[in-house]
Amino acid sequence: MNKTAVYPGSFDPVTNGHIDIINRGLRIFDKIIIAIGSNPTKSALFTVEERMDMIRNLIGDNQRLEVDSYEGLLVDYLIDVKASVILRGLRAMSDFEYEFQLALMNRRLDRQVETAFLMTGSKWFYCNSRIIKEAAALGGSVRGMVPDEVLRRLKEKFPQLQDANGRRRRSS
Ligand code: ADP
Repeated sequence: MNKTAVYPGSFDPVTNGHIDIINRGLRIFDKIIIAIGSNPTKSALFTVEERMDMIRNLIGDNQRLEVDSYEGLLVDYLIDVKASVILRGLRAMSDFEYEFQLALMNRRLDRQVETAFLMTGSKWFYCNSRIIKEAAALGGSVRGMVPDEVLRRLKEKFPQLQDANGRRRRSS
């Protein structure tokens, strides 16, 4: 049986931490649908189209990965794509409480749905889209935390963003 998981999130923008979870997920699932949800409580930096475009460029022609977007309840989207597993990534303990509540709510909404959590690689423990955007907006280098294409797009949004070589150095 083909096991498909839906990896939902804002991906605003996609980071190396997200990619780490996708690569780990591919060891377990036959197919992963990366699904961008429009979260009305969050204001986004990139449009859903821009976010999908960045992820599409990253995954290339890998037949086991698909990018999509959805509106409304995630459990309804899962029915549409005939999937019953939600893939989520766990970073530091701070993720746990929220992820636990979300998983229980989704299970309550649809008893057929299971959430699978994968632990991020230690390198990406503190890699988080919001912090990356905040640093980039203030001109701090985020090289190494996001794929090159995402870095380029962040530089378009924040011209003040320099790379590590251009950063001011503390005089000793
Ligand atoms: P959300 O806005 O719902 O948190 P995100 O785009 O931030 O969506 O993240 C989607 C999923 O990816 C979540 O399960 C989140 O915990 C996970 N994730 C994000 N960054 C990382 C990371 N550095 N390592 C592991 N998982 C991550």
